[in-house]
Amino acid sequence: MEIYLDNAATTKPCAAAVDAAVRCMTECYANPSSLHSAGTAALSEIDKSRRAIASALSCAGSEIIFTSCATESTNMALKSAALKYGRRKKTIITSAAEHPSVLQTMKYLSENGYNIKYISPRIDGIFYEEDFINAADDDTFMISIMLVNNENGSMLPVENVFKVIKRIRPDIICHCDAVQAFMKIPVNVKKLCCDLLSLSAHKIYAPKGIGALYIKKGIIIHPLLHGGGQENKLRSGTESVPLIAAFGAAVKFLEPDMEKNYKKYIELKNYLETKLSKTENIKVNSKENSVPYIFNFSVMGIRSEIMLHYLEKKNIFVSSGSACSKGRKSGVLEKFGADDKTADSAIRVSFSYMTEKKDIDALCNAIISANSELQKA
Ligand code: PLP
Repeated sequence: MEIYLDNAATTKPCAAAVDAAVRCMTECYANPSSLHSAGTAALSEIDKSRRAIASALSCAGSEIIFTSCATESTNMALKSAALKYGRRKKTIITSAAEHPSVLQTMKYLSENGYNIKYISPRIDGIFYEEDFINAADDDTFMISIMLVNNENGSMLPVENVFKVIKRIRPDIICHCDAVQAFMKIPVNVKKLCCDLLSLSAHKIYAPKGIGALYIKKGIIIHPLLHGGGQENKLRSGTESVPLIAAFGAAVKFLEPDMEKNYKKYIELKNYLETKLSKTENIKVNSKENSVPYIFNFSVMGIRSEIMLHYLEKKNIFVSSGSACSKGRKSGVLEKFGADDKTADSAIRVSFSYMTEKKDIDALCNAIISANSELQKA
């Protein structure tokens, strides 16, 4: 039996999501823009899913548009906000630990005349809200901060920063990448005071290829894709009804158990941490303020890739860091204070609602044997 501990990279679709997708492919396959009743039935599947996501975020359905993934959502949010709101003002604030979908978009924007201010964690590896707030000046038109870091699970002070920014400089557009937070911790767009928020379905037990963008009423966004005018004229292209329906089904599946799952993640993380504290050569990279379902540590002396393949042979699947960096160092852990050797040996373990203590036992036993087999190799 495989032990899958790489849920921050992607998750196994839940039965409710699979059923919804299959139903929409077999029974509800019409084009949602078609005027006949089969089209209307497909459209109502989209509306149902939109309402489920909106309700989970405490916003209106009309404030949600579907995209192909969170990468598209962040690109759309940042590039089109730059087009609309970055004509006279040119500065954007972001964290230095964002996912590549934000960092690479920022790089693109900086090559096109925008000034990007990157805020790093302090020496203790923690992001401080005043560092973001103090960076905002008369030239700032946008701020983008992730809620939960995908590599070490650190929580960033999004709510506190956006709340103050909206009070002192209400014109600044606030975007949040909530991909690693949605349906795991409460994400309320009103409480967060954000204007734009990006989501991905495949991190919450729905299939890959579907994401969403929250656009607060009144915020003007330019489409990246022009065409038939779907998604309120903001994202042309025939909607993927099966994937959209699966996204909504996964939200509904998770919603009643969010608290229960969170408690389970705390237990699993404590169990893992205790076991690792009795294991040689371990250095914990996750910070005190990390979410319990993403845990990053280094087995000092064994490079991440070697460890990953060693574990893989025992049917245990983990990540060497960010999945998007494909084994390449992303540099994010160093931003949080890790030295080169620590970052080179980093392993990210991420739980799902199906993870059990026996999975942690298997992982820890494998690390103990790796320590004796690989350390001197
Ligand atoms: N943002 C964060 C924090 C992520 O972890 C990911 C995926 O790993 C993304 C954005 C991109 O999501 P997607 O794969 O849907 O493009």
